[in-house]
Amino acid sequence: MATTLAEPLDAEAGPGLPEIDHFDVVIVGAGISGIGAACHLAAQCPDKRFVILEAQETFGGTWWTHRYPGVRSDSDLFTFGYRFKPWLGAPIASGEEINKYLGEVIDENRLADRIRYRHRIERAAWSSKNHTWTLDVVRTDTRQQLVFSANFLWVCSGYYRHDEVHIPDWERLETFQGTLIHPQQWPEDLDWSGKRIVVIGSGATAATLIPAIAEQAGHVTMLQRSPTYYFVRPNVNELAETLRELEIPDEWTHEIVRRKITRDMDAITRMSFEQPEALRQMLLDSVRALLPDGFDFERHFSPSYRPWQQRIAVLPEGDLFKWIRAGKVTVVTDHIRRFTPDGVEVGSGQLLPADVIIAATGFNMNVMGDIAFCVDDCPVDFAQTVTYRGIMFTEVPNLAYVFGYFRASWTLRADLIAEFVCRLLTHMAELGAEVVTPRLRDEESEMTLGPWVDPENFNPGYLTRSLHLLPKQGDREPWQLLHEYSTEKEILPSADLDDGSLVYA
Ligand SMILES: Cc1cc2nc3c(=O)[nH]c(=O)nc-3n(C[C@H](O)[C@H](O)[C@H](O)COP(=O)(O)OP(=O)(O)OC[C@H]3O[C@@H](n4cnc5c(N)ncnc54)[C@H](O)[C@@H]3O)c2cc1C
Repeated sequence: MATTLAEPLDAEAGPGLPEIDHFDVVIVGAGISGIGAACHLAAQCPDKRFVILEAQETFGGTWWTHRYPGVRSDSDLFTFGYRFKPWLGAPIASGEEINKYLGEVIDENRLADRIRYRHRIERAAWSSKNHTWTLDVVRTDTRQQLVFSANFLWVCSGYYRHDEVHIPDWERLETFQGTLIHPQQWPEDLDWSGKRIVVIGSGATAATLIPAIAEQAGHVTMLQRSPTYYFVRPNVNELAETLRELEIPDEWTHEIVRRKITRDMDAITRMSFEQPEALRQMLLDSVRALLPDGFDFERHFSPSYRPWQQRIAVLPEGDLFKWIRAGKVTVVTDHIRRFTPDGVEVGSGQLLPADVIIAATGFNMNVMGDIAFCVDDCPVDFAQTVTYRGIMFTEVPNLAYVFGYFRASWTLRADLIAEFVCRLLTHMAELGAEVVTPRLRDEESEMTLGPWVDPENFNPGYLTRSLHLLPKQGDREPWQLLHEYSTEKEILPSADLDDGSLVYA
């Protein structure tokens, strides 16, 4: 039977799960990364006993948490989907479609009884004596305290807190008499018909939510501090359509289209560094054509930063602009001066009246699932560690972390990391090693260290707010977090596991 969101899985009730709490591998999180990690592990390391511990009541991570109207991917699903499961739909998918896809992956790979929902890992303690992680876990429904242990921890916790939203410290916010909403906590019973709505923000969330609410709303104002880049294009992949017409097997179509898209995305990324002005004009032109005569394009849709320093929101069919042309959506570019009982007052002194204010203002980052880590009773401060390939951390044994790409689909990296981790686990088994610890070699002890992500390269607010908490990277391999799939797909599968940067015991 297909897994549906109406029937959240609960492995404890399911048959076949042994009544033990020790596993070879514990995967943290049942989002797209954790489910992918489990599939790779089951296929490539079939002898490993593993479990996924997930804090929420069901799978999907981001795609379960975000259920606001219109929620959809901004990547194509050929590359945001897994390498091993063909995507059969249109490139940009709704949150519901993505969850359906993930449910199928769980069913097809018989993962249901390997996921435990409502299990939040709060503390992880490594013992060098026992070569295990001991995990303090709390049941989020009953508050029951549980203890698990694992030889290897695979942290697929995503990059932001699911149970906490980011609302800036706005002046007099408490005086606002209407309804304030963050899209991450969308109230199912919200009736916005006929309402005056102000959406604060213009990133992917705002740009997908606004077209979904504009028709019923009385009026929507998109209030942004500064403009965002959008990429307007039809929600169709011509190559996939042709291959489907030719009845090419879905697996082939998926792989061929992935290769084409990753090559095209790579060209766009290179363009963003080598010819930023040409890319900027290309993106701006795709938007300019969709705006009514006399619209102040420069003010509202011409960003000041280099394209790709923040994620570019894809707008299939340019649906946001349809509602601007129809007069249902207006754009205000200004800073917020203060809130009033009736709405928001902006820098120019204009009052934007609102019944509902939607704060599409981003996230609070989580660092390693907000788990309190310690190694042999010493707390781990990840900001003091150096990353091994953006996957592991110096002096933290038997732990891998999944952090995907910004400019390409997250899952492309999650898949690469999964293959790497499985190769590492197999290598350890061959060596008879129980412990692997990244450690700087003598010649690297004086290496220049920099932030997890160079703000000049990529700098959305949630990341820059938290950079001081994140691991450092070095000035050479293997101590760097690489951002380009085209480079990493060559490097990671053949990375030398015996170059001395990984110490086995
Ligand atoms: C609205 C939206 C749209 C996006 N669209 C795209 C897109 O189109 N393309 C793209 O590449 N990226 C996109 N992203 C980024 C997106 O978050 C990632 O691509 C991807 O979904 C992350 O998957 P994940 O499994 O790594 O993390 P998440 O989806 O964040 O899932 C992590 C899971 O781990 C669980 N967890 C965390 N800590 C613990 C703990 N201590 N104990 C137990 N469980 C824990 C969480 O509850 C959660 O379910 C989008 C993000 C948002 C918010």
